[in-house]
Amino acid sequence: MKYVSTRNSSLSVTGSEAILMGISPEGGLFVPESFPRFSLQEIGAMGEMDYAERSATVMSRYLDEFTYDELLAIARRAYSRFDEEDACPLVKLDEDLYILELWHGPTFAFKDVALTVLPQLISACRAKKGETDKTLVLVATSGDTGKAALEGFKDVDGTEIMVFYPSEGVSYMQKLQMTTTGGANTYVAGIKGNFDDAQSAVKQVFTDPEVRAKLKEGGYVMSSANSINWGRLLPQVAYYFSAYVDLVTSEEITLGDAIDFVVPTGNFGDILAGYYAMRMGLPVRKLVCASNINNVLTDFFESGVYDLGREFHKTISPSMDILISSNLERLVFEIEGRDSAATLALMTALKQEGKYAIDLSLLRDKAGAFAAGFADEEETKDTIADVFDEYGYLIDPHTAVAVAVNGDRYEEGEELVPTVVLSTANPYKFTQDVLSALGEEQKADPFEAVKALTLESGVEPPEGITRLEKAEVRFRDVLAADEIKQIVLKKAK
Ligand SMILES: *Cc1c(COP(=O)(O)O)cnc(C)c1O
Repeated sequence: MKYVSTRNSSLSVTGSEAILMGISPEGGLFVPESFPRFSLQEIGAMGEMDYAERSATVMSRYLDEFTYDELLAIARRAYSRFDEEDACPLVKLDEDLYILELWHGPTFAFKDVALTVLPQLISACRAKKGETDKTLVLVATSGDTGKAALEGFKDVDGTEIMVFYPSEGVSYMQKLQMTTTGGANTYVAGIKGNFDDAQSAVKQVFTDPEVRAKLKEGGYVMSSANSINWGRLLPQVAYYFSAYVDLVTSEEITLGDAIDFVVPTGNFGDILAGYYAMRMGLPVRKLVCASNINNVLTDFFESGVYDLGREFHKTISPSMDILISSNLERLVFEIEGRDSAATLALMTALKQEGKYAIDLSLLRDKAGAFAAGFADEEETKDTIADVFDEYGYLIDPHTAVAVAVNGDRYEEGEELVPTVVLSTANPYKFTQDVLSALGEEQKADPFEAVKALTLESGVEPPEGITRLEKAEVRFRDVLAADEIKQIVLKKAK
């Protein structure tokens, strides 16, 4: 299997090159040259497998430089760090409504599913290519990626990681999780500005030839752990298959029935993995893109126009406070019939004019499986309270956005089919907002809030959250976006 760039389809690289490079030199994203297909029988056979085997089965179709057993060893190591036997368990909430819990990993958000795998893939790819330079991983984070990447790369030989987060744009727990990280190869700093500012600044450093050359002299190559890296996207494809076969095995559906997935969306990585699963043969009817009030994607799917000319809102679902959804480029590439010149033109328009437009009938034709909606802050909080009252089940604000958007669909009269809502974070990552959504008094001290939420809900917090109260803060830097380059260049010396 070879990979092409969304902005230059004459470029062709191997899977390990795509993973080590992270992003194509001209700024495009790597995509597989075709989608391998699973027959229904092959999908059904996954019912007998555990999660690591399902993951290795999906990954092996794309990474043919590795044997199945090599990939299985990677998946086993990754998912042994999860707190449940089944890394991505499916919970039945109601008739035809299921929650896919993706937050049983070391940092309690869905990004662990991929970021426990990616560092191992990078190490394995370096070994395959005989790479001797160290890999310097740069990460811009809206909160959850940063900690998941730090945990994934911490003390992994031959790698160093630098994480940049918007200093006022992450939750208290997210920030504390990052700034207390151990490891000799880690660095964390706040950036003045929002996530888009941090992401643009990191991307600029990443594609800066001077930085690349100086780092090379110092014995480093850069890579990215952001969700644009193929090694991030690939492990996510597996849980769509896993959720589906869990429904088949528990006789909730029959093999071949089409189901819906509702995905709380920010950078468009998670839902894109669902689209790839569908292209591989998974029976999917709708992929519902759920946004908060930063609803640029809702507008895009309704009108074909992607327009950044709007206010940026800070919400209680900060990992979705994103206006530039980087992974959408991979879908645009498919919509445009894999025409890299057309994709480049649209992405250039986005950069220069802050918007682009795709023909609406083309969008409906090529991406008809996508539906979209958004929930405002009130609706999100009400949904947390409603789900707790009705089912005794506690959800975080990101998951609540998706549950709310799903509810709206049925009010609008959409036909009901079995629906899986992806749950992307443990509610204790956002304790204060969850507590106030339940109508409890706000607590100024986040750890008092954890205690109050435990009392109120009867749901135990993860130990990794309570432990933070006594953890030592190691990183206090807050930088202007244009200082990132200097900090990175210091490595080269
Ligand atoms: C990252 C994140 C999202 C958004 O996922 P994308 O792949 O960026 O669309 C949603 N919820 C949580 C909790 C996240 O950490």
